[in-house]
Amino acid sequence: MNSDRKTLIVGNWKMHLNVHQSSLLVHRLNERVKVHRDVEVVLAPSMLAMQPLSLEIDHRKFRLCAQDAYPKDEGGYTGEVSFAMLGDIVRYCIVGHSARRIYFNETLETIRDKVQAAVRNGISPIICIGETKQERDAGESRQVIHDQLTTALMNITSRELDSIVLVYEPTWAISTFDGIIAKPDDVQKAIAYMRMQVRELYGEKAAERIYVLYGGSVNEHDVRSYLNIPGVDGALIGAASLNYHQFAAIVDAAYRLRLEV
Ligand code: PEP
Repeated sequence: MNSDRKTLIVGNWKMHLNVHQSSLLVHRLNERVKVHRDVEVVLAPSMLAMQPLSLEIDHRKFRLCAQDAYPKDEGGYTGEVSFAMLGDIVRYCIVGHSARRIYFNETLETIRDKVQAAVRNGISPIICIGETKQERDAGESRQVIHDQLTTALMNITSRELDSIVLVYEPTWAISTFDGIIAKPDDVQKAIAYMRMQVRELYGEKAAERIYVLYGGSVNEHDVRSYLNIPGVDGALIGAASLNYHQFAAIVDAAYRLRLEV
């Protein structure tokens, strides 16, 4: 954790909760989450709930994040929602989540285009980077991280880099894939490697400045051990973000850590 910057706690609701249930969860969270200068709480509901929630949330407490969007700004792309359409509703968009890479065959190039489209439309992409279990077992983790990171940032200038958030989220650690609990030491090494890639592309200052989060089965009991890792600026939370007790406890753990720094 870096005391100069905010801690980001992002809740990825995935394909859960209808509009009513989403409203209810926000209501419950609102009762439990305090406004805190150093902790930014980001909610990624379904696309359907985005508009109503944008009118309901306390914007001092919560920011909205899309889970995905289409890289073209408009056109005959039936069924899609563009970053351009989301520009005045969300602050962030998750890009390159393992679920999208695996279930929807998103390629490195698609993810690169989405990152560029997000930035072009004033949305900060939260770019998920991480290897599968098979790639880890084959000793390919670094190569995969390198390829995903360098392609995602291919068209991003030094100035635009300020709006980028990276997440080390190995597929094997996500609860809906293998759900293996990552060791903080391994997370630290992977994130140091990601910052090294950013250093090679954009220089020392950029590597220090860029936000890097960890994601993968984080819960209210172990969030502290991840937020305490040097170089980690926050967490991407899936399953535990759907339970208001658990998510509020995660946010609270982040507050407490900030108060101790
Ligand atoms: C995710 O899918 O982004 C995620 C972090 O999920 P979980 O916390 O459930 O592993």
